[in-house]
Formats: sequence, structure tokens, C-alpha cells
Amino acid sequence: MTKFSDLNLDPKVLKAVADAGYETPTPIQAGAIPPALEGRDVLGIAQTGTGKTASFTLPMISLLARGRARARMPRSLVLCPTRELAAQVAENFDAYAKYVKLTKALLIGGVSFKEQEAVINRGADVLIATPGRLLDHFERGKLLLTGVQIMVVDEADRMLDMGFIPDIERIFSLTPFTRQTLFFSATMAPEIERITNTFLSAPERVEVARQATTSENITQSVIMFKGSRKDREGTEKRKLLRELIESEGDGCKNAIIFCNRKVDVDTVAKSMKKYGLDAAAIHGDLEQSHRMRTLDGFRDGTLRFLVASDVAARGLDIPNVSHVFNYDVPSHAEDYVHRIGRTGRAGKKGTAIMICNPRDERNLADIEALVNHEIPRGGDALVAAPEAAPAEAPASPSAEAKAETAEKPKRPSRSRKPKPSAPKAEASAEPQTADAPKSAEAIETAEAPKEPSGSRPAQTERKSSTRGNASGRNAAPRGGQPVGLGDDMPSFIAKSFEERLES
Ligand code: AMP
Repeated sequence: MTKFSDLNLDPKVLKAVADAGYETPTPIQAGAIPPALEGRDVLGIAQTGTGKTASFTLPMISLLARGRARARMPRSLVLCPTRELAAQVAENFDAYAKYVKLTKALLIGGVSFKEQEAVINRGADVLIATPGRLLDHFERGKLLLTGVQIMVVDEADRMLDMGFIPDIERIFSLTPFTRQTLFFSATMAPEIERITNTFLSAPERVEVARQATTSENITQSVIMFKGSRKDREGTEKRKLLRELIESEGDGCKNAIIFCNRKVDVDTVAKSMKKYGLDAAAIHGDLEQSHRMRTLDGFRDGTLRFLVASDVAARGLDIPNVSHVFNYDVPSHAEDYVHRIGRTGRAGKKGTAIMICNPRDERNLADIEALVNHEIPRGGDALVAAPEAAPAEAPASPSAEAKAETAEKPKRPSRSRKPKPSAPKAEASAEPQTADAPKSAEAIETAEAPKEPSGSRPAQTERKSSTRGNASGRNAAPRGGQPVGLGDDMPSFIAKSFEERLES
């Protein structure tokens, strides 16, 4: 087995690694560090939790230890998709560079330009930045990227999801083409492949197993859930979440609860707090200082539940998370792997429980195909209650015992309007600012149905909704079959309203 001492790292870096308590390099470290130290480009295909941060920071520090910083001309650059991830890389950098005299600047949004400029002016060896903020600094004329010798792109697939690829291309073009590039992505989408083909030069490709690394330590289950009525679905789902947490007992030391949409992150966190659970929300619309405080609280154990969106929580290294709850089935199968990878870290056991609505079964199937195993169906949770069930219909057998009454809708919803935004659009990249409910009452109204009316068709019906199948409900969701299009009816017309939102 490779040892850190075999890797040719700077002795001061090795000392810091020993202080961190690492005994052996992880596969991505063993694969990426030697070529990186030789000055070669590296294409690392690895997800978070594999030790990939050290796989680029350790060689970077070793290489940089040999030179000196120059004002306004950083020698290296690390690009991260989110502020949190950038902050985390910066922390890693501090830990591994503690015996080496190097300076760094963290360039992320939500922090004043002035402070950041002052550090750049003094001369930073390493810039750790989100693409937008880096380009802002560049455009203000405060930064020259022509001295960059090493450039790291971390979580490139997430950059793609977030629409940062044009920024990344621009940043590549601002750095010398002689630079060394260390490029990391959990997956290789065609667009990512294109970027690597364009900007990397004969890279050493290091690929580590995608999910098997964490899943063995994580007990996974999925709870099928269907609300008794459309207008009670959110209420009942939040109640189910509380019951799931409760049923885990003291074993649930802390948890991250993932929602697909920012509005749900807020709603779920508020609702949990209302029920006495120590929860706080984190998503891209919250102030950076607020997000940092929340994360610190979760890390140091003063906050028990973190309700999060994918983007905000992506790549965060929070040790000792006992549980991950997927309040929603993520719409990208990869996100499931990332989400549950927050637990079961560093050889510890973890539990991942996901709530699945029938309309998400297709996404569940995609996840199971990706992780290559069936996720056990847990509990006898929620089955659809009859349409005529009373509003207080218990969400599950255990709910009955608790005579849970809270979170009733204030008004039975008759004139509910569909939300203006497509639910899927927010799924991964958080591009839109959904209005968070302002009060506990508002929690209920935030649950507007996502389709015009009525219950959804069964999954099998949705799947069969294709061109030529225009007679079903899916084909004509707004009443009546489209006419006058003959056999050449475009397939999107045959899709349900919901499917069109999704596509
Ligand atoms: P990352 O994939 O970079 O987010 O790292 C995941 C976790 O693994 C972090 O908590 C690191 O501190 C830890 N880690 C990184 N390298 C090693 C190693 N060689 N041995 C043990 N833990 C490690």
C-alpha cells in the first residue's frame, strides 16, 4: 500500500498531513499527487468524500513552497462552484500549509471587495475563488492572472449545473497556457469532456469508484409517501419527516435534511422549529455570513438539524453526521450519491432515509440504476388516503397515537393557483429565488399545487405519454385532445403540463 512518505511531498506538508491524522493516502490522492508533483495536468474523476481536496492541495503547496508571491499576481488559482466549498478548500489549505509560508486569498461573494483587494495587493500565492467573484475582481483591474502556474477546477460537474462553464472558459483563457491544470469532476458529462479536451494537456486521468466508497457504511431506505389530498401533501410530508426523525431515536444525533427547492428548505426548517426541533436552513439565497454561522453551528454541534439545498451543501465536509434525510428524491441521480455521502464518512456508520412520492418513482429508479442496487423500502409509512379522508387524516399509524393536529391549512384551498415557477427548474442549480414563506401560517400557503388541478396520473401512465398517445389525460391536460395536428403532432404537445415543466 502507498504511504504518504512515498509520494514525494514536501516534508513540511508531510508533517501537516501527519498532524491531520491521515495514515495512508486515499486512492485519488495516491493517483493524483505523483503526476501533479511532476507538473503534469491531472483529470480527477472523484466525488466529494474521497479525499480529493487534499489530492490537489498537497501537491500545490509542495510546488508553491519553492517560490515566492508577487503583488496582484497570484501563482495559483482554485475555482470552486460555491462559497462554502471555497471556504472549505481554504480551511484545508490552511491546515496543510501550516508549516509553509504561503499566503492565500479567499474570493467569494458576500464578503467586501475591499478586504479581498487588500490581500491580493499584498500578494497571494493562492487564490481560492468562485468564478463570478474572481471575474469581478479581474474586471475591476485589480488582478492579473498571467502569473498563474497552477490552476485547479473543483467540482466541474457542479459548475456545469450552475451555468459557470463560460466563466471557467474565460478564466482559462486569462491564464498562461503553460499553466498546470488539476481538474476534478464527479462525472464526465459531454460538456465537461469538451472542456478537458480543450484546456488540459495530456492529463493523467485518475478515476475512483463513484459510490461504493461510502455506501457500505450507510444504511439506506426509502419511504413511499402519498398525501391524502393534494392540498395536504406538504403538511403530511413534514409530519412524516418528524416521525421519521423521532423513530430514529437517540441514534439520530444530527441530520442534514435535503430538499430539492429552496422554498421547501425554508418551509421545512420553519416547520421543524415550530415543532421544537433545532433546525436551520441553508441555501443559496441566504446571506453568506448567515450561511457560515449556520454551518459552524452544525459543525460544532450546537445545531442539530441542517435543512439544505444541494448547491449550498454540496461538497461540505461535516464529520459525524449521523443521518441524511432526503425530503425529496433528487432529480439528478448523482445528487443522491452526494447527499447521502454527507453521512457515513471516515469509516463511521450512517443512515440515509428518503421520502419518495409516486411521481418521483422515475427518479428513484434512476438512482437505483446508478447505485446499482435496490434501496430497501422502509416502514409502512404513507399510503394514499382516500380522497374523502378528513383533513386531519393521520399521516401514518404512529401519527394517530400522537393525535397530531398542527399545520392544518388555515383555509381549505379551493382557489389555489399553480405556482408560477417550474418545480424542477430549481432542482440543482438554484437559479431562481423562490419566495420563502414569511410566517408559520405562510408555510401552508407555500404548498401550492404544482399542476393545475386534480391528482397526478400513475407513473406508468406518465411514461406512456408519448406522441400518438393523445387520448389519455396526459395528452390533453387542459381538457380535450389537441386537434388539427394529424399524425405530426409534436411530442411536447402530447406531454402533460407537468412533464413540460420538467423538460
Ligand atoms: P474531501 O473528499 O476532500 O471532501 O475529503 C473528505 C474527508 O476525508 C475530509 O474530512 C478529509 O479530512 C478526510 N481525508 C482526506 N484525506 C484523508 C486521508 N488520507 N486519510 C483519512 N482521511 C482523509
